[in-house]
Amino acid sequence: MPMSPDYRDRLFPILPEVAAHFGTPFHIYDETGIRETGTRLRRLFARLGGFQEYYAVKALPNPRILQIMQELGFGFDCSSVAELLLARQVGARGEALMFTSNNTSAEDFHTALADGGSLLNLDDISLVPKVPRMPETICFRYNPGPRRSGNSIIGNPVEAKYGVAHHQLIDAYRAAMARGARRFGLHTMLASNERNHLYMVQTVEMLLEVARWIGAELGIRFDFINMGGGLGIAYHPDEAPFDLEAMADGILRQLDAFGADQGYVPRLFMESGRYMTGPHGVLVVRAINRKEIYRTYIGVDASMSALMRPGMYGAYHHIEVPGKSADLPVETVDVVGSLCENNDKFALQRPLPPIDEGDLLVIQDTGAHGHAMGFNYNGKLRPKELLLRADGRVELIRRAETVEDYFATLQFEAQTLLP
Ligand SMILES: *Cc1c(COP(=O)(O)O)cnc(C)c1O
Repeated sequence: MPMSPDYRDRLFPILPEVAAHFGTPFHIYDETGIRETGTRLRRLFARLGGFQEYYAVKALPNPRILQIMQELGFGFDCSSVAELLLARQVGARGEALMFTSNNTSAEDFHTALADGGSLLNLDDISLVPKVPRMPETICFRYNPGPRRSGNSIIGNPVEAKYGVAHHQLIDAYRAAMARGARRFGLHTMLASNERNHLYMVQTVEMLLEVARWIGAELGIRFDFINMGGGLGIAYHPDEAPFDLEAMADGILRQLDAFGADQGYVPRLFMESGRYMTGPHGVLVVRAINRKEIYRTYIGVDASMSALMRPGMYGAYHHIEVPGKSADLPVETVDVVGSLCENNDKFALQRPLPPIDEGDLLVIQDTGAHGHAMGFNYNGKLRPKELLLRADGRVELIRRAETVEDYFATLQFEAQTLLP
C-alpha cells in the first residue's frame, strides 16, 4: 500500500489550507509515521542489546528529519563529505556515524576522521594504506560477486563497483590489523527496494558465514555485522508490503545459531533509508495545464527535478486527487512536468479521476530518494520541504530553490591561465 490511510486522513483535510499558505509544489513528510516505523524497527530487535539502525542520510538529507532519527536513537550512514557534515550538524559523532564511501578520496578520509571521527567502512583493499591513520575499529564492505544475485536497481554484484571481493577479504583484514585495527565490522549492501524479507535474512546468513570463516582464519571476533539497507516498500497498491516482523524473526534465528556455534554474537547494524521515510512523504503539486493531443497530458507545477524516480527507473508512484473520488469515471492521462525531456513524467497512461486546472495532486512515497535526487538540468529548481509535525503544526524545513541559487556558482573572481 502506498501512503498510509492514517497519514491520508490527517493530511487531505488540511491540504488546501497548507497549499494556499506555503504555495505548491512541496514535499510534505509525516513525523508521526516516521516515528512509528522507527519505533517498530527498534522494538523488533530490542532483545539484541546492541542493535543499531544507521539512517541512510542520502534518502532524505534534511536536518529536521535527521533530528527525529536521532531522537529515535539512530545513527547515520553517510557516503559523502556533505552527508557527514550534515549528520554532525545535528550532533552525531564517532560511532553514531558510519562512513560508507566508494572511490574514496583523501578529502573523504580527512573529514571522516576529523571532529570525533566516524566508523570507517572501507570499500577496497587498496584503501588500507591510504587511510591517514588506522582507527581502532575498521569495517569492510563485502561484495560476494557470483555468490549472490542482486536486484534491478543495484544490479548484479559481479558488475557492481562496490566492495571487497571474496578472495581479497582475508588480506584486507590482515592488512588493517597490521596497521593497528583491533575491532572489526563486516558490511554489505546488495539490493535496493527489495520487498522479499527472505533476501535480507539470507544477507545476514551470508555475513555470518563470512564472519565465521574470517574469524577462524585470523583468530578475530567481529564487533558488528552491517546488513546495509535496501528494505523495500510497496509503491503500487497491488504490491505486498515488506514483512518486517518475519525478517526480524529470521535474522534473530541466524544470530542465535551463530552464538551457539561461535560463543558470541556480533552486534547487528542496519542502514535502512527508504523503509524508514519513503512512505511517509508525498509530493503535492497543482495541475496548471491540460493538453489534448494524441494523448491527454496533465501539466503540473513541478518537474522531475522534484522527483527523479519515474524518469530514471520507470518507477511507479501512486497519485491521488484529493476531493475527487476514485469512484468517478476515470480518464487515462500522462502527468507531466515542464522539463524539456520526454521522460519528465510523473505517471504514464494512468487512470485518474478527471482533473481540472487548479486541482491538487498527491504523488506518493516521495519520503526517500525523492527531493534528494533532484537536479537542476534545464534550470529547473527543487521545491520546498514541509513537515507535518506530531503536534499538528506544519513546519517549513527547507525553502524552495531560487534562480539566485541557480546562478550562485556564476559569481566568482575572474581568473585566466596562459599555459
Ligand atoms: C543507499 C544506501 C543505503 C540505503 O538504501 P535504502 O534502499 O534507502 O534502504 C544504505 N547503505 C548504503 C551503503 C547505501 O549506499
